Amino acid sequence: MIIAITGTPGVGKTTVSKLLAQRLGYEYVNLRDYAIEKGIGELKGELEVEVDELAYNFERDFKGKDVIVDGHLGHFLKADVVVVLRAHPRLIGERLKDRGYPREKIGENVEAELVDVILVEALEENERVLEVDTTGKTPEEVVNEILELIETGVKKRVGIVDWSEVYDEVIPYLRL
Ligand code: ADP
Ligand code: MG
Repeated sequence: MIIAITGTPGVGKTTVSKLLAQRLGYEYVNLRDYAIEKGIGELKGELEVEVDELAYNFERDFKGKDVIVDGHLGHFLKADVVVVLRAHPRLIGERLKDRGYPREKIGENVEAELVDVILVEALEENERVLEVDTTGKTPEEVVNEILELIETGVKKRVGIVDWSEVYDEVIPYLRL
């Protein structure tokens, strides 16, 4: 089974993906590293990839395998399950600030989390989308929640967060 873990940068994809791969005994694939290794896209500081080319290559290399694929473009791949991780936009802001992201990039990503950009894209691309809020949870708790949703056969679970309620708290991060 191919499980894609997607979400806004800083939401916890890499942490959760590695743990989930360990728990399931699946191969862990970092999508950015995979694209670079395969020479897909261009590295202009940030990696710019053609998602169709990425999806085509990924399917050729991983179809029928058991993998956890970690990346914010994961929902563009042909995956059996797409997990969209969510976190309070303030956490995204704090984590990206700690990572030394430029103000502009922090604002862009806080805003993307606030208005559900990746969730909406994932729903356009995939049948089986599971949204998981990581806020106030440990990575282990998040992994347990994902496993439970998958094992109980839940087909779709979305609409579980509404960050419009916390808009005021994240204004300092936004590019207004
Ligand atoms: P991404 O790959 O989405 O950019 P990372 O996994 O690299 O995110 O970073 C997420 C950060 O948030 C890590 O420092 C991690 O320890 C922390 N974190 C705190 N709580 C959680 C949680 N419940 N799930 C995932 N990460 C968490
Ligand atoms: Mg990551």
